[in-house]
Amino acid sequence: EVREIMRIDYVYKVVMIGDSAVGKSQLLSRFTKNDFCFDSKSTIGVEFQTRTVAIKSKIIKAQIWDTAGQERYRAVTSAYYRGALGAVVVYDITNRQSFNHVTRWVEELRDRTDGSIVIMLVGNKADLSSQREVPTEQAVEFAKDQGLFFSETSALSGDNVEAAFFKLIEHIYNVAS
Ligand code: GDP
Ligand code: MG
Repeated sequence: EVREIMRIDYVYKVVMIGDSAVGKSQLLSRFTKNDFCFDSKSTIGVEFQTRTVAIKSKIIKAQIWDTAGQERYRAVTSAYYRGALGAVVVYDITNRQSFNHVTRWVEELRDRTDGSIVIMLVGNKADLSSQREVPTEQAVEFAKDQGLFFSETSALSGDNVEAAFFKLIEHIYNVAS
């Protein structure tokens, strides 16, 4: 019998947060399965997905948690945040309100996790640029003020999705080791 042993050096828990319908689940399935599902229902039950990546010769398993309809303010449970080393805070560039709510999400994150958590702010649906309601510069400014990484992505086309997750994971590695 031949068995392949995969060495895992670290497991990092990462949480996805942000308003409903901004594309959290699609970003996650793009990153973990390189897939986009056009008629996806809202998230049901699945707690997390994983992808194993190599960063500077270390093998890191990213365990990425997705909200299961807990997107209302203060509805996310403590178990969801427990042990998280990274967070992806997502808004929709075509939905002003979802960006306005980012302040709350970041505040909640800072209340519920320890200070060293690495946060990536993501403006998703960048493919819908003709419907844009949130200027890139404004998000860049906000991210700088708050000490967050920032990226605009499209889960639909895949643009910048890998880069955003890799940057987050790499930075967790830099902080945690
Ligand atoms: P969630 O509630 O934040 O998990 O959002 P979903 O991942 O379920 O996505 C909500 C809706 O937005 C779905 O209809 C998706 O097909 C759509 N969507 C998600 N990401 C994108 C994207 O990058 N571009 C476009 N055009 N639509 C997207
Ligand atoms: Mg979802």
